[in-house]
Amino acid sequence: MIWIFIAFFLLLVVAAIILLPLFRPATPATPDASVDHKLLALYTKRDQLYQAIREAKFDLDTGKLSPEDYDRQVTRLKRQAASVLKAIDKREASMVSPEWDEQIEAQVKSARGGRSMVRPAVVTSAVAATAGRARYCPQCGARMEADDRFCPACGARVS
Ligand SMILES: [Zn+2]
Repeated sequence: MIWIFIAFFLLLVVAAIILLPLFRPATPATPDASVDHKLLALYTKRDQLYQAIREAKFDLDTGKLSPEDYDRQVTRLKRQAASVLKAIDKREASMVSPEWDEQIEAQVKSARGGRSMVRPAVVTSAVAATAGRARYCPQCGARMEADDRFCPACGARVS
């Protein structure tokens, strides 16, 4: 019995290694970030939280996590992510290039549930879930935002 879990865990690790670079949000180069360790730590923390949200979604999709547990986890993760983004915003305020400023703005907005083209789909659905507007794809059962026309997971068209 234990071997099933070990095999499944290994499968998750392999899948994570393969899929991670695909899902990593494109982060523009930040000239001063390389010398600011506090800021680097914040970026790392942010990426970890995004990753945790993706993993929760994956666990939901694979049935490892009940929708209730998923909501609870993602709500908590999103709250943490929002405060990290705020801290990054603050830290960046004095040393930003214009496009990086936009990127932060968009990420903070997405963390607050605002409208933005650049926010990751998982964060989008997480925002929808906590806002109580969650829908599910009729094709694959993935969570969708209320106004999504296409499923972010399988791409099915939803009326
Ligand atoms: Zn779908």
